[in-house]
Amino acid sequence: MSSIWNELDKDGFEQFIWCRDRESGLRAFIAIHNTNRGPALGGCRLWPYASEEDAAADAMRLARSMTYKAAAAGLSYGGGKAVVIGRADDPRIEQQFEALGRFIDRLGGSYWTGVDVGTTTAHMDAVARFTGYVTDMSGTLGGTDDWTADMTAYGLLHGMKATAKRICGTDRLHHLTIAVQGLGKVGWALCRYLRREGARLIVTDLSMRLVEQAVREFQALPVAADRIYDAPCHIFAPCALGGILNLSTVERLQCRVVAGSANNQLAAPQSVHLEALQRKGIVYAPDYIVNAGGIIATAAELDGDGPRRIRSRVKRIARTLTEVYQAAENEGITTAAAADQLAELAMHKA
Ligand code: NAD
Repeated sequence: MSSIWNELDKDGFEQFIWCRDRESGLRAFIAIHNTNRGPALGGCRLWPYASEEDAAADAMRLARSMTYKAAAAGLSYGGGKAVVIGRADDPRIEQQFEALGRFIDRLGGSYWTGVDVGTTTAHMDAVARFTGYVTDMSGTLGGTDDWTADMTAYGLLHGMKATAKRICGTDRLHHLTIAVQGLGKVGWALCRYLRREGARLIVTDLSMRLVEQAVREFQALPVAADRIYDAPCHIFAPCALGGILNLSTVERLQCRVVAGSANNQLAAPQSVHLEALQRKGIVYAPDYIVNAGGIIATAAELDGDGPRRIRSRVKRIARTLTEVYQAAENEGITTAAAADQLAELAMHKA
């Protein structure tokens, strides 16, 4: 318990809600990190956490990074996150999400939820029966299969173009080899965009079916999951798990740029791994800047924008990333530190 209070104080959380509904069996937490710029936005994760402490820590970590992501993207939203301790195949899962909807409604709009790892449009439909502070239900753009992931990949594509422009003087990607780790919703959509640009692809996934499909559809070169770090390429795109950049993987990398969708790519302590990347001359595109396409699209949909305007807002990731690179160069700091500065300035300005 005391460690939860310490964490809440350390990172300046505004509110932390314990949600318990005995009838449905719901056990959930909602962490609201910061609403200086507007209501906290952040999806709801459904996961069979080993302990309540793990779930609470995850909610806090994710909520905090949503604040930074939204602020750096210039959105009028803050950061929050909900986590439900449970499993999708629980027979009472629908009632649990209805109960979660009642908890969210009581917050009066300071937190908006949506889909995240483990949750689907059906869960959001259940939430929506009891509150309007929810996105990604059936019939919305966000509720369309893989739309958010597609927007995340679209933002990542433009982040890669901005990086190529800075390093090679052109934002065309046709002469580049890009290694994609993870062919899930975002990784797959990214490969599709990159292939259209004419880039050569190296791919890996734990699913052989996805790898074989990528070889067929994108003429990609397959590598085993544990060999992707050794693949000679221009850009390495981590689109699977967080925490994959550590001293041993960074040592193996043969790329000039790391730019991917995975959240929290740098293992702790981050500064050590950032320095290792810098020593090798590898440019790191801060994860929450390049993977902000999904949240930008959700915010834009809430603001009433249509698909064309949403795409153009997502595309602005290129400009934000260029600003981050420039600030890092001017001030002699890492790109991750420059991203934090940008986000913190936006939070305080608000
Ligand atoms: P997903 O679950 O659809 O896909 C992840 C893929 O990675 C799966 O195919 C899985 O088999 C593969 N994978 C897992 N471990 C691997 C390993 N060690 N080596 C190779 N492949 C491995 O997830 P997603 O929605 O595509 O998201 C991918 C990443 O991007 C996640 O870290 C997620 O948090 C982040 N992200 C996603 C979104 C979004 O809109 N979906 C937005 C921002 C960030």
